[in-house]
Amino acid sequence: MGTLYHSTRSCERSVTGKFAIRTGIASDGGLYVRDDLPEKALDLTRVCGQTFQETALEVLSALFEDFSPEELESCVSQAYGEAFDDARIVPVEKLGADYMLELFHGPTCAFKDMALQILPHLMICSRERSDDKILVLTATSGDTGKAALAGFAGIGNIGICVFFPYQKVSDIQELQMVCQKGANVGVCAVRGTFDDAQTGVKRIFCDAGLIERLSARGISLSSANSINIGRLVPQISYYFDAYAQLVRSDALVLGDAVDFFVPTGNFGDVLAGYYAKLMGLPVGKLIVASNDNNVLTDFITTGTYDRMREFRKTISPSMDILVSSNLERLLYHLSDGDCAYVASLMDQLAAEGSYTVDDELLSRIQDILGCGYATNAESTEAIRYTFERTGTLIDPHTAVGKHVMDDMRPGGRPRILLATASPYKFPADCLAALGRDASGMSGFAAMDALEDITGTVAPGSLSALRSMERLHDDVCNIDAMAEFVDAVSKRAFA
Ligand SMILES: *Cc1c(COP(=O)(O)O)cnc(C)c1O
Repeated sequence: MGTLYHSTRSCERSVTGKFAIRTGIASDGGLYVRDDLPEKALDLTRVCGQTFQETALEVLSALFEDFSPEELESCVSQAYGEAFDDARIVPVEKLGADYMLELFHGPTCAFKDMALQILPHLMICSRERSDDKILVLTATSGDTGKAALAGFAGIGNIGICVFFPYQKVSDIQELQMVCQKGANVGVCAVRGTFDDAQTGVKRIFCDAGLIERLSARGISLSSANSINIGRLVPQISYYFDAYAQLVRSDALVLGDAVDFFVPTGNFGDVLAGYYAKLMGLPVGKLIVASNDNNVLTDFITTGTYDRMREFRKTISPSMDILVSSNLERLLYHLSDGDCAYVASLMDQLAAEGSYTVDDELLSRIQDILGCGYATNAESTEAIRYTFERTGTLIDPHTAVGKHVMDDMRPGGRPRILLATASPYKFPADCLAALGRDASGMSGFAAMDALEDITGTVAPGSLSALRSMERLHDDVCNIDAMAEFVDAVSKRAFA
């Protein structure tokens, strides 16, 4: 029943939502997609009268029809409740003449919680047998790691292993990960960039020897990266809910289109917006906002995706990505499901580091997506003037979207900026942006200073790090990642 998901690179074999969630990535290296999203349209009038949780349930039920209603209800209620510090879960606030959709009210203060608070529950329901063991592997550019650890820690028969790029995440992000408790967790810094770590994880999924050894012990591998469809689908909900909030507050007339500005890295967040559009949400444009690693700006402008460029470390590390994995799904949908074409583009990307799409595909992409980028200096400046003009302190990732939004002439439609992290996750850079000298200051001293300046209070989960113990100090090279996974598997399922 419901075998509707198949690889972006082949339509031959289709699988259920549960299978796609527990395996993460298709065996040919493609990502799981389905072809009937427009038929899954939500009734907007009803959505506008619903809570976030009700809308989330509706989205999940539409796309994961192999789950029972009871399973999905239980997943939603376990995920989106007490762990969030705002009862609206994803509050929309005014920001100057525009709006800001706050996606950072979950336990780890970044939008990754929206998906990673629910993914563990979806994964548990997805097991073939209730005693099956799953080892979840994740490469993180900073925020996914902690969100995955917080979601999966302590869950029976699931292990979680996180790799982050050594010295390329913020102090607070690193502390959040290395202080994570739980017998089923592994955390390791990798010498390299996020892209290296992600490539390393993808390679482990193809490591037949390791997979066989794990399988002999009843363990299978899965992924908590945004390539997992179980992460993508929950993110569709907040696009609908943001729209509903604006209709309820009379900022929007039901049926009118809105533009979303999305700080983008791996293209998961913005792709969920595209899925919302396919499912009937009146979306004008989705604007892909990049930082100095502006591969996507170039791609959307020219049709050439070229990862062969210098990697730039920025103050928005969760967007320091040169290979945006989820773009593959958009290419699939906009090429009318041409798996062979997508596979050939991905082969070129792997072999030559670049590919160019045909004109027809490029023009379809440009119909849906706008784009722009902010340099480090521009995002810093956006943090400063946004605080001066509106009294709202935004984080460096959100600031990238803010700069792009302010740089673009308003299209006449209401504009919603996705706020993807709490500024307290990046206290030193935010403080410096406000013109204070933050050099040599610890993350916590910077947090204190931000509290004084803004009159706001740091989220409890971040202040609590002050007194927590570092539990994970492993650092490894890319080619030693498989070994680390082996070790974690022994500890997690001892
Ligand atoms: C992950 C992340 C992004 C990028 O989201 P993608 O889905 O990878 O495009 C932006 N901002 C923050 C704070 C993030 O953690």
